[in-house]
Amino acid sequence: MTPVLHDNHGRPISYARLAVTDRCNLRCFYCMPEEGIRYLPKKELLTFEEIERLVAILAGLGIHKIRITGGEPFVRTDLMDLIRKISRIEGIQSLHLTTNGVLTAPHIPELKALGVRSVNLSLDTLDRTRFQVITRRDEFDATWRTLMQLLEAGIEVKINAVVMEGKNTEDILPFVELTRTMPLHIRFIEEMPFNGEGSHYPRLNWTYRAILEYIQSQYRLEKLPDEPHSTAYTYRVPGFVGDVGVIAAFSRTFCGTCNRIRVTAQGMLKTCLYDDGVLDLKSLLRSGIPDDQIRMELGKAFRQRPKDGFEAERKRTKVVTESMSTIGG
Ligand code: SAM
Ligand code: SF4
Repeated sequence: MTPVLHDNHGRPISYARLAVTDRCNLRCFYCMPEEGIRYLPKKELLTFEEIERLVAILAGLGIHKIRITGGEPFVRTDLMDLIRKISRIEGIQSLHLTTNGVLTAPHIPELKALGVRSVNLSLDTLDRTRFQVITRRDEFDATWRTLMQLLEAGIEVKINAVVMEGKNTEDILPFVELTRTMPLHIRFIEEMPFNGEGSHYPRLNWTYRAILEYIQSQYRLEKLPDEPHSTAYTYRVPGFVGDVGVIAAFSRTFCGTCNRIRVTAQGMLKTCLYDDGVLDLKSLLRSGIPDDQIRMELGKAFRQRPKDGFEAERKRTKVVTESMSTIGG
């Protein structure tokens, strides 16, 4: 196995999240303005061949975990072709997906056959009307169907629920209740100002601590050991089959163990969620230079990572307003 590279702060870099499109079939309040964002022209996106080449180059740097995300990955035509290609790349040991679930269900048997290890499903509410208000689309049933079919297929499911004041805090306890009988991992995420417009609030009230305290006002929680490099603090209600976690995406308490990089749909490398993009991989991939040279450039970028999301944000040239759909969630 290729040894994993370490960054300038001694953190192993073993995980890449690839946004395969910036397009989406929903308009989540916390991610995009109602009118949508200006999408990239197709030629600006990395092609499947470029993504496949890039993943092989990353595997040669010791990256062994890949997540496909977006935008909504399933709105990219023939996404399954790409997943098939990536699943065959030597050195990639685990393949994961993040999806809103609207178009996912028909592909579940093949995802299982290709060995997709887990799916993060975005679902912020258990109520159909609130779903429509939050996502500005009436697709609750499709997402719920995907959830049920993933569980039936035996694919591990993490539910990503962004907690938003005035929008879905009444769903927090019902989500915890779901873990009584369903083997789900519920992850409550602090809202970040990545919605294409800027921050929704002067300050964030629903921090991971506030979410935890709220759950603990109704349930006894026991701490579970967190997976290495996990961004979530995980707990279980004793006797329940699933678990719950909180992700301090805004408070950024997890940077010290961060093992991940991101590649945006237009092929920019981000070594931190909060940076501006530090290497134009698309230009490198299209420049005719050999893989080894691209690998060297990547290695250089890995050795110049900011210590944490606060340092990355200070170094930005633009204020943080872009949509998570452009960044690649
Ligand atoms: N469309 C897919 C989905 O929704 O799962 C994948 C892309 S989406 C950008 C990835 C994740 O980012 C989702 O789970 C979503 O909840 C999260 N996300 C988007 N905007 C966010 C924000 N402003 N704050 C926190 N999480 C956000
Ligand atoms: Fe689309 Fe996912 Fe963003 Fe919602 S969070 S608008 S589903 S990209």
